[in-house]
Amino acid sequence: MSEVVSDPLGLSPEQREIQAVCREFAEREIRPVAAEVDEADTQTPLELFHKAASLGLTSFMLPEEVGGGGMTDCLTGCIVQEELCWGCAGIGNLITSGGFFAEPVVELGTDEQKRRWLEPIAGERPPLTALATTEPGSGSDAASIQTTATRSEGGYRLRGQKTWISNGGLAELYVVFATVEPGSRSRGITAFVVEKGDPGVSFGEPMKKMGQRAIVNAEMFLEDAELAEDRRLGDEGQGFYGLMRTFDRSRVTLGASATGIARAALEYAVEYGKTREQFGKPIAEHQAVAFRLADMATRVDAARLLVHRAARRLDAGEAVPAEAAMAKLYASEAAMWCTWAAVQTLGGWGYSREYPVEKWMRDAKLEEIEEGTSDIQRLIISRHLLT
Ligand SMILES: Cc1cc2nc3c(=O)[nH]c(=O)nc-3n(C[C@H](O)[C@H](O)[C@H](O)COP(=O)(O)OP(=O)(O)OC[C@H]3O[C@@H](n4cnc5c(N)ncnc54)[C@H](O)[C@@H]3O)c2cc1C
Repeated sequence: MSEVVSDPLGLSPEQREIQAVCREFAEREIRPVAAEVDEADTQTPLELFHKAASLGLTSFMLPEEVGGGGMTDCLTGCIVQEELCWGCAGIGNLITSGGFFAEPVVELGTDEQKRRWLEPIAGERPPLTALATTEPGSGSDAASIQTTATRSEGGYRLRGQKTWISNGGLAELYVVFATVEPGSRSRGITAFVVEKGDPGVSFGEPMKKMGQRAIVNAEMFLEDAELAEDRRLGDEGQGFYGLMRTFDRSRVTLGASATGIARAALEYAVEYGKTREQFGKPIAEHQAVAFRLADMATRVDAARLLVHRAARRLDAGEAVPAEAAMAKLYASEAAMWCTWAAVQTLGGWGYSREYPVEKWMRDAKLEEIEEGTSDIQRLIISRHLLT
């Protein structure tokens, strides 16, 4: 693809540099193992994660004060995410998963808490981390969580169950959301840092899933897990605000991840279309195929433009829940559509596991679900329109 496509609005020299590093890493390190990791299922490629860490790709987004790369802007996060997820969405999202944990720590934590939990992530052998809000009875309605945090002698006692936790069981550190005031919805929600080895904390078996299999997902059980007072992030009741701030940003970077998948599908379909011949000419010379490629390219560009717009406005300090929702909604649906279109363009071979496009289609589906389904993004956008 041309530079115009990958750089619609102008990037700084530093952003171009990290984009080039990520592009090369995705090409050389991620693409060659993506199918194998997918087939292996639930075998997180930790070596690759640590290799990415040695290049600063797991910590570029952390503040310099804790040893991170200091590229804390959302736009850089999007550039990294698109390139890595072009290689493989599961592996790309694994590499940047520290950002999902770090966001509420940065937003709500004290300087001491930031040093304590972010310095290890910025280190040479970073631990895996996770964010746990979803529960068996609480998904889209994040304010309805039932996990409780009750005051105890030394701090808090957490009781409840989380589900679908990315890196669950493998991660050393978790931001867990619990309520100190059951029944009060968002008012009582409070964030805590839970360590894997804390008494009362255990995990289920890795969950079997459709795509993005480089990341393990598991249930998390909190059975009277005792936490010291200093594990609480922010004040009691500030957790929901911290979660929404995290989503405002992570939904935009998730849109970038989806754009990476869509771009991978487009590039593959274009090359295939130019070489596969039917009825005496390359299939891309049949107008139905050529037009489908044109639609794919248009969606990839539109997705990136929405993602970059939301990122730039966030970086300018604006609250942009509707723009973030639009970016995630459009980009994830573009990824789903473009991967479908790539499968269609390859015909029977698109359906074969020998080619990567069916995996990309499975990977793309998750982008429409996690961190708020497409319905929830539409809810946010329509509320913005109607209030
Ligand atoms: C692979 C994977 C990784 C994940 N990683 C994490 C993680 O690391 N941490 C974490 O906390 N969670 C994680 N999740 C959970 C994810 O965020 C939830 O699955 C998602 O928010 C949807 O919740 P749900 O699955 O309970 O669906 P539900 O909320 O039960 O929704 C079911 C359907 O109803 C629709 N719906 C619900 N409410 C409305 C409404 N008001 N209007 C219109 N339609 C509605 C939804 O759009 C959906 O189609 C992960 C999920 C998956 C699959």
